[in-house]
Amino acid sequence: MSLRRRSGYCPACSTEQPLRIESVDQTFCIHGEEVTVRGRVAFCCRCGEDVFDRELDFAALESAYAEYRRTRGIPSPQDIVAMRQKYGLGQRPLAKLLGWSPATVYRYEKGSVPAPAHAEILKRLADPSEMADRLRSEGHRLSPRERARAEEEVMASHGRETGSVARVALEKAMGGCLPGVENGFQRFRFEKLLNMMVFFAGTRGMAKTALMKLLWYADFQNFRVHAVSISGARYAALPYGPAPDKHFLCLEAATETGAISIYPETFGQHEGERILGEERVPDGVFSDPEWGTLRQVAERLGRLPSVTLTALSHREDAWNHTRTGEIISYLHALTLREPAGLGPVSTPESGPNRA
Ligand SMILES: [Zn+2]
Repeated sequence: MSLRRRSGYCPACSTEQPLRIESVDQTFCIHGEEVTVRGRVAFCCRCGEDVFDRELDFAALESAYAEYRRTRGIPSPQDIVAMRQKYGLGQRPLAKLLGWSPATVYRYEKGSVPAPAHAEILKRLADPSEMADRLRSEGHRLSPRERARAEEEVMASHGRETGSVARVALEKAMGGCLPGVENGFQRFRFEKLLNMMVFFAGTRGMAKTALMKLLWYADFQNFRVHAVSISGARYAALPYGPAPDKHFLCLEAATETGAISIYPETFGQHEGERILGEERVPDGVFSDPEWGTLRQVAERLGRLPSVTLTALSHREDAWNHTRTGEIISYLHALTLREPAGLGPVSTPESGPNRA
């Protein structure tokens, strides 16, 4: 771009005239607001009128757009492209997700300044949790393939941006399996497992060992009654009874959300951990049948000490017929004794010794 142009066509003089370039303030109207920037303008040396110059005027408009974006925190075209690519979305899928025309997204990426309401949406979507919300509510507008890709990317950026290594590792370990007897014919859903912990632990808290048993009973009981687990978690047969597979990761990922917290607890000679939940489970996490299962488990088993719950779980076929450390098949749910209340809760027989 040559700024040292010596002459140009002056409409006022109707002839080619020598020009001089000066820096002056120019005001533009962008989305109804005035934006003033200092830019270079060509003037006719003969009559003094300003003369249209494609390059100079375009540069001034660009700098007004940049100023408008900067002062109002509006995403630049590069920001929008970067956000879209972060989630593996094409222009068209992004437009579908937002309910905009594809041309709108195209224009914004080519330099048009988004209207304030649109700018706000684009800005927020840079946050993976905002994109996760959007995918939950509007994901049906995408093809299954586009949606799955975006969800994966959201998960990955969550990990990168919040440093939640535990969550990413957990999804990898649990989320990888297809629906089957190991997860109760349900894809793993962390949100559900997390809120099962919140529900059972409550603000009064619960010993970790006891909580692990209640999660197991709830998922297996729901499978027995509705042929599907609640959380899609896999459970392993551990010495103290069933517990979610990778339960350390489960607890760590859950703690990172802030919805539960873990405190060390000493009772007698034993060092244990107590888990506290937030006040309430958010609306819409569980279906009515799931609530039915959770309440049944809480009423029958929710106030029992860890040692009793461990003993009860040791009476279950599910535990007796699974080798220590192995994943318990949900098919064992069909012979569960609890929480249906078969046999006294207060005086459980001790299970077989499998040290
Ligand atoms: Zn002139």
